[in-house]
Amino acid sequence: MTLETETVIVTGASRGLGASMAKRFAREGATVVVTARSESELEAVAAEADGETLVVPADVTDEAAVRAVVETTIDEYGAVTGLVNNAGIGLLNMYGEQRVLHDVETEDFRQILDVNVTGVFLFSKYVVPHMIDAGRGTILNISSGLGRRAAAKWGPYVASKWALEGLTRTQAAELEAYGITVNGLDPGGRVATAFWDHLPEDEREGVLEPDVMDDAATRLLAQGPDGITGESMPADEWEQRLG
Ligand code: NDP
Repeated sequence: MTLETETVIVTGASRGLGASMAKRFAREGATVVVTARSESELEAVAAEADGETLVVPADVTDEAAVRAVVETTIDEYGAVTGLVNNAGIGLLNMYGEQRVLHDVETEDFRQILDVNVTGVFLFSKYVVPHMIDAGRGTILNISSGLGRRAAAKWGPYVASKWALEGLTRTQAAELEAYGITVNGLDPGGRVATAFWDHLPEDEREGVLEPDVMDDAATRLLAQGPDGITGESMPADEWEQRLG
């Protein structure tokens, strides 16, 4: 399997699951555009990557910045064939603890939906016309087990990931005729990343390693225009499904 013909934008690529996927894609031969807010962390990821990478910082909630990432990619490489919408936040980023919905500040609820849903909408909005031009493309939206079930004190995150699941299926239906696949992918459990850093050390959880989605994401990017679309499942299920 090779990704040599792919130019892939990975959001939330400055650390955690996104950084791991970006480095793996580069190793598989893809050209990888890494984006997140922290330029210095992105530069560190690019320096570690074994392959072609381009650092373009952006806040996923800033439409002009998102547009600039896509335009820079096109200017530099002439195409974008893959998009991994991985940037995501939860209440831990804000409060260092989980909270019941009625104790969540309205602006914080909005911010989580803005990053986890509107950010995905924006990147997809600006990338899709280029994929339509190319006649192919792969969009991977990074979901969660909480995109399929609920958990107390995870309200805004649950709402955002369920929204993401609906958005994934909708866009898959819209883009199938263009040879563009749109799928959901999640780690299948808690992963040891900075997502949990805001908790006291003895309460941090994380059993899976940040590279848990790398194989499935690579195979999904390699599947081509006739590949599976409109599905969402954990990494190990994707691996079985894709053989
Ligand atoms: P991390 O907190 O380690 O990384 C989050 C990434 O998102 C960072 O690169 C961060 O970069 C970026 N990000 C956050 N806010 C913004 C923003 N406004 N604009 C642009 N980029 C932003 O999280 P994980 O690697 O653990 O999570 C990645 C994805 O995996 C998320 O969608 C998460 O919901 C999902 N997931 C994680 C699980 C886990 O247990 N860790 C379990 C299930 C799903 P920067 O701060 O530089 O902007």
